[in-house]
Order: sequence, then structure tokens, then C-alpha cells
Amino acid sequence: MCNGSLRQVFNLLTDKDIGQSEQDLLQHPQVNEARRWFLSAGTGAVVALAATGLPFSARAAISLPIHERKIKLVNRQTGETLETIYFQDGAYLEEPMTQINRLMRDHHSGAVTKIDPNLLDLLVKVEALLDRKGEITVTSAYRTARTNRRLRSEGAAKQSMHVKGQAVDIRMPGIHLKALRDLATALRAGGVGYYPRSNFVHLDTGNIRYW
Ligand SMILES: [Zn+2]
Repeated sequence: MCNGSLRQVFNLLTDKDIGQSEQDLLQHPQVNEARRWFLSAGTGAVVALAATGLPFSARAAISLPIHERKIKLVNRQTGETLETIYFQDGAYLEEPMTQINRLMRDHHSGAVTKIDPNLLDLLVKVEALLDRKGEITVTSAYRTARTNRRLRSEGAAKQSMHVKGQAVDIRMPGIHLKALRDLATALRAGGVGYYPRSNFVHLDTGNIRYW
């Protein structure tokens, strides 16, 4: 797929109303083509996209489902799984959010925090773009400041967004790690870190930055 047709796809996407349901968008053949391209292109996909100089923002392009948002998480450290609708009819649901907070706790200390709902929405957006509704493997989410200090030797950042409940390290079975990284980068929703050796992508809802 060349940059010219990509331009068409993303112009199409950004011209859509915010209220347009993602289902309608995803049924569009050009959107499907873009998604397949993301899946197959791997590294360089977003580099090529950036080179077109498009004012592309997938954040505007794909509107989140308003009625219902569902997520399936697996905590790789504890083996816990959770499949839940955490957002319904315009509101985040208390009980599912509590369950998510617990699954995404600091497993070193057992400490729980409020996970940023925007982080969950970001995961749902990535899945929507991939037309995927599988499990998301969480390798690390919330960390206390103390745990984060302990993990500094393993590469944890000093000012880690994990400490604020605004970051998660994930992989998506069946999705190439590079494709996941490229797609997350294109969403321009926050920080994206690529850790191929440890087989995860870091996503956070902080400032837009990449490493
Ligand atoms: Zn991380």
C-alpha cells in the first residue's frame, strides 16, 4: 500500500464526525485496508506515514464506542484474567474499574491504585483499529514509588508514569510487537516505549514521546 492511498484513508478517517460509530468506520473497505497494512507492515509503517506530513490523528479518527467498552486483560505476573465491560452508556462503571485496578496492581507490594480510564480507552482504541477483541497481556501496570526504585536497575524510568497509574506494559497475542508499537505511536495519545527483548510495548497517557 503506497503513501498516496494511505493519505486517502486517513483523510477519510479525519473527515468523519467524532460521533460516527467505530463499527461504521471499521466496515469501510479503506479502513480495513489500512488496518491490514498496519498489521503486515511492522516497523517503518508509521515512519512512512509521518513522511507524508499528514495532520493525522487517529485519536480523532476512531471514536470510541459510546454505548459499551469491553476489555480482556491477563496479568502475566499473577495469571489473573478479567473480561469486563468497564464503560456503559456514557459512564465508567465502578465495580469493573475496581476489578481492573486490582488486576493492574503493583504485584510486588500488592498496592492498588486508580488506573487512568484513558489508558483503558487507549487499549480499546488500539484494538478497534486492529479489529481485534482478544486478550491483552499485561506485564506491568501500577508500581509504587518503592517498587519503581527497585526496578530502576531493570530500566524503569525515574519519573515513571507507572507510579501514577497512567502506564501499562503490554503485548497482544497474534499482533506483531512492531505493528503494535507503530499503531500506538500513530495514535499520538501519550508515551510509547518499545522493548523487543522483553517482548512488550509500554503505553502511557502522559506527554507524547517515543523511545
Ligand atoms: Zn512501562
